[in-house]
Amino acid sequence: MNTRDDLGARALHILETVFGYPSFRGEQAAIVDAVARGGDALVLMPTGGGKSLCYQIPALLRDGVGIVVSPLIALMQDQVDALAEVGVRAAFLNSTQSFDETIRIERRLRTGDLDLLYVAPERLMTPRCLDMLDTLKIALFAIDEAHCVSQWGHDFRPEYIRLSVLHERFPHVPRIALTATADHQTRAEIAHRLQLEDAHRFVSSFDRPNIRYQIVEKASSRKQLLDFIESEHPGDAGIVYCLSRKKVEETAEFLNENGLTALPYHAGMDFATRSANQSRFLREDGIVMVATIAFGMGIDKPDVRFVAHLDLPKSIEGYYQETGRAGRDGLPASAWMAYGLQDVVQQRRMIDESETDDTFKRVQGAKLDAMLGLCETLHCRRQRLLDYFGQSSEPCGNCDTCAQPPSSFDATVAVQKLLSTIYRVDQRFGAMHVLDVLRGADSDKLRQWGHEQISTYGIGADRSEAEWRAILRQTIALGLISVDHESYGALKLTEAARPVLKGLEKVQLRAYQKPVKTRRTSKPKGYVETDLSAEEQAVFEKLRWWRMETARKHNVPAYVVFQDATMREIAKVQPTSLDALRGVSGVGEKKLESYGAEIVALIGDMATP
Ligand code: ADP
Ligand code: ZN
Repeated sequence: MNTRDDLGARALHILETVFGYPSFRGEQAAIVDAVARGGDALVLMPTGGGKSLCYQIPALLRDGVGIVVSPLIALMQDQVDALAEVGVRAAFLNSTQSFDETIRIERRLRTGDLDLLYVAPERLMTPRCLDMLDTLKIALFAIDEAHCVSQWGHDFRPEYIRLSVLHERFPHVPRIALTATADHQTRAEIAHRLQLEDAHRFVSSFDRPNIRYQIVEKASSRKQLLDFIESEHPGDAGIVYCLSRKKVEETAEFLNENGLTALPYHAGMDFATRSANQSRFLREDGIVMVATIAFGMGIDKPDVRFVAHLDLPKSIEGYYQETGRAGRDGLPASAWMAYGLQDVVQQRRMIDESETDDTFKRVQGAKLDAMLGLCETLHCRRQRLLDYFGQSSEPCGNCDTCAQPPSSFDATVAVQKLLSTIYRVDQRFGAMHVLDVLRGADSDKLRQWGHEQISTYGIGADRSEAEWRAILRQTIALGLISVDHESYGALKLTEAARPVLKGLEKVQLRAYQKPVKTRRTSKPKGYVETDLSAEEQAVFEKLRWWRMETARKHNVPAYVVFQDATMREIAKVQPTSLDALRGVSGVGEKKLESYGAEIVALIGDMATP
C-alpha cells in the first residue's frame, strides 16, 4: 500500500469512526488530502456544504494541534461541545474567559492534550499568544469565515488583515482558508491578503438543492407569513428577517399571538436578552427567530427549516447568505420572501440617502437591480441565483417559478397610461395618488387638485389596484420611473421612459398572480427522502423527547447530541443492536458508546407491545 492510499484510508477511517459518516461529500476528500499533506488550501463551499471536516480531519491526521481562527466567539462553546461529543479534544481562547481558564488551556496545549484550538483573531494576534504558538507543534491553521478580510464585504474585520503574519511566522504550517462567499472579487481579496495565491483552490457548486425558493407578491405580509409557516412548516425552527427593529418586535408579537413560539433579535436589545434568545433558538426545538440581519452570521444550527424575508435584501449576496442558513443538514427547507412595491421604493431611497460617493451608490444600485431581477424573473429562481455566481444550471423543479411558471404579457399600453398620468400630474405626486387617478377614484383630494379632469382619469379602471401596483413596481424596477424622496415620494419619469411613451419600445411584464397558498407538489431531484410512516414517525417523536432530555442534562444544543437526519435514519432502521446502530450515518464510536445502549433499549421498548 503506498502512502497516498494509506492517508486516504486513515482519513476515511476517522470520518467513519469519529464522525460516523460513511463517505466524504463533494470536494471534502480532496481538500483533506491536500491539507493533511501540508499544502495550503482556499475552500469555497456553500453554507452547509461541510467545511468543518475539511480542517478537523487533517488536524487529527497531522501531528500537533490545529488552530482554528474564527470571529464567531459566541459559537465557540457549542463547537467545542460538539467535538467533545464525538471524542475530539478541543478548546477555545477568547475574551469571554477568565484568566484562570486561559492558563488551564495553555497548560493543555503545552502537554499536547488538545487536537483543536478555536481562537478569536484579536486574541491570536497578541504577542503572548503568538509567542506561545512558537513553542508548540502546530498541525495547521484554519481561517474560517475568510471573507472577513474583504474590505468591501459586509463582515469586514480589520484583525483579519493581520492574519498574513501567520504565513511569515509559521512558513511550514499549512493554512486552509474557508468561506461561503462566492464572488470573484472576495475570492481574489482573500488569496491576496492572506498570501494564499499559490494555495490549491477548491470551488464547490453553490447550489443548495434541498432549499426551495419562493418569492410571493406582498399583500398583507404578516398574514402571508403565518399562512406559509402554518401550511408548510408547522412546528419547525425558522428565521424571519425584517429590516427594522420595530418590525422585528411587532412581527414576533404577532406570531406569538397566533400560537407560535417566536423570539425577537436585533442590535437595539440589551446584550443579555439577545444572547438568551439566541441560546433558546439554538437549544430548543421549533422556535421562530424574528431578527434583523444582525442575527445569523455563523449560525451553525443545522435544522433551521425555513428562512423568511419580510423585506427585500439589498443584494443577491446577502439574500443567498441569509437563505443559506436554512437546511444545513441537507433535509428539505424553504427560503420564502414577500416582496412588493414599497420594498423597491424603500431600498432605492436607502441608496439615494446614503452618505457615500457616487461610485458606491452605483455599485449598490446595480446590486439592487440584480436582486429585483430575481424577484421579477419569469424563469427558474435557482438558475438565476447560480447564474449570478457564475455557475450555469438547468431549471430546478424546486422553486415557485418552476412549480407554477408565471406568465408575461405585453404591458406597453398599460405602462404608457401610467407614465402619462405621472406626467399629467406634473410629476409631483406619489404612488397612491397616481393610481387613484388611473383607476378613477372618487376622492376629495383628486378634486382639490382638479385631477378628475385630466384625460387619463379612470382609463385604468379595468385593472385592480393590486394589478396596478404590480405594474408600477415592475416599471420602477425597470428604471422607467424614479421615486423622488425629497418631495415625499413623488413619481418622476426617467430618460428611459421616453421611448416607451413615444411607442418606440415595448414593455413585457410579469402577469399579476393572486397570492395563493402553494403546496409542495412533486419530489424534485437532489431531495433527501424524509417521509416517515406513522410508526416511524412515532419512533422519531420518542427520539426527540429523549434527545431533548439528554441535551438538557449535558447542557448542549439538541443537534449536538444527534442531528435530525441521523434520528430519522434511526427511526427508519430501528436498530435493535449496537452493530446495527453503528451503520447509521452520524453515529460514530464515541456516540455509540455514550448513547448506543439507551437508543437500542428505547427502540426495544417501542417494539414490545
Ligand atoms: P459549513 O461549515 O460548510 O456550513 P458544516 O461543516 O457545518 O458546514 O456541515 C454541515 C452539515 O453537514 C453538518 O450537519 C455536518 O455534520 C454534515 N456533514 C458534513 N460532512 C458530511 C459528510 N461527509 N457526510 C454526512 N454529513 C456531513
Ligand atoms: Zn426552479
